[in-house]
Amino acid sequence: MYDVIVVGARCGGAPLAMLLAREGHKVLMVDRMAIGTDIMSTHYVKRSGASLLNRWGLLEQLRQAGTPGISELSFNIDETKLAGRAPGCDGVAEDFTPRRTVLDPILVQAAAEAGAEIRDQFTVSSLIFDEGRVAGIRGTGKNGIETAERAKVVVGADGIRSLVAKSVGAETIVDGGSHTCGYYAYYSGMRDKDNAASLSIRTQDRRFYITFPTNDDLDMVFLFWPAEEARSVRKDLEAAFGESLKLVPELEARVRQGKRETRITGSHLLPNFFRRAHGPGWALVGDAALHRDPITAQGITNAFTHAAILGEELSAGLKGDKPIGQALADYDRRQFEKLKPMFDYTVHLSMLQPLPVEVKQMLPLIEGNQEAIGAFIGSFLGSVPLDQVFPPHLLDRFAADVERGRPELRHVA
Ligand SMILES: Cc1cc2nc3c(=O)[nH]c(=O)nc-3n(C[C@H](O)[C@H](O)[C@H](O)COP(=O)(O)OP(=O)(O)OC[C@H]3O[C@@H](n4cnc5c(N)ncnc54)[C@H](O)[C@@H]3O)c2cc1C
Repeated sequence: MYDVIVVGARCGGAPLAMLLAREGHKVLMVDRMAIGTDIMSTHYVKRSGASLLNRWGLLEQLRQAGTPGISELSFNIDETKLAGRAPGCDGVAEDFTPRRTVLDPILVQAAAEAGAEIRDQFTVSSLIFDEGRVAGIRGTGKNGIETAERAKVVVGADGIRSLVAKSVGAETIVDGGSHTCGYYAYYSGMRDKDNAASLSIRTQDRRFYITFPTNDDLDMVFLFWPAEEARSVRKDLEAAFGESLKLVPELEARVRQGKRETRITGSHLLPNFFRRAHGPGWALVGDAALHRDPITAQGITNAFTHAAILGEELSAGLKGDKPIGQALADYDRRQFEKLKPMFDYTVHLSMLQPLPVEVKQMLPLIEGNQEAIGAFIGSFLGSVPLDQVFPPHLLDRFAADVERGRPELRHVA
């Protein structure tokens, strides 16, 4: 009998297992994949997420693994260039860009060192229920034998298509639709600076670009198109990449001078939703609980935030400081309140609409003003609250976009 079983051993599951084990709880974490395998995801970890890694004592390991620390970010919005340094988050003034083959094993190792039991290549096939409560898992490990394990709480950290969410019938409580498709590749020889990343938006053309340095002297180039164009983009990814890069000559020149080292990969299934993230004997973290378009590079940071809040609440519940059911409900409420504003902003950006008039008016005013540029960039990175940069009615508009993004706009490629 475990205190907690965590299904999924990556950005949501591994830090949660680590935090609970550090508090002395008996934790089993399973994953159907082998630890250290890659996953379809780019990996810009904002300073708001990196500050949690720092708090957990893991940031230095990322640096030691040769992960670039990003202190300069440029936002190129059509012809406006906003480049600068943003405020730090709890003393961390860099973002980090670790390959998932670097980040995820560090997280799993930390969970193991804290005392969590880890079983990789173990696929959960169903949940065990006792009188309406989740009471454990059934699954098959490397040896091919089906086993059952019981726990007071089962946490689904099992990604967007979460088996745990499906099994408990976790309903979607916010559905923001799906608006982009995004594809990326790694290049050698195009490095500009080791500590700089850039985002470019071409509003007329409805294109969005992210590029940053990562491990092994590679640079990542990530392009977004409106979901309506997914079919043609997927038909010829190389042509779509080439044509879109022409719209940002500076980036195109860097890409031309480099060499593409991987195939172009990505997804046209990038929905935006919150699921109910708790119930009797269960909780969800990471993409299982909250999925959003990667256009704001928020997923890893959200998963860390879930782990931090659920770790605190669940530990209090397991120690008897509050009823476990209350702890799970408090987790769900806290994560929703904390992450909803950036979710709304993400959905708004992913619609690749013309800039709101307020932002159009704001850009010339902040261009050349380093403090204002830092605040604008910081609001994207989570080190400056969104409401310090955008007026309340604009934040309301972002939230309204989530409503507008409901099924009628949902894209099925
Ligand atoms: C194209 C793309 C680009 C992205 N870029 C960024 C970015 O730059 N920055 C950022 O912050 N976020 C980014 N994200 C989002 C980020 O990848 C996710 O938010 C993050 O991986 C969520 O972590 P997680 O632990 O919740 O789930 P996952 O990383 O999906 O891990 C889930 C784990 O659960 C395991 N699992 C699933 N089902 C079972 C089962 N039945 N039994 C056992 N194990 C199971 C899987 O094997 C997997 O290892 C991107 C996403 C995409 C698609």
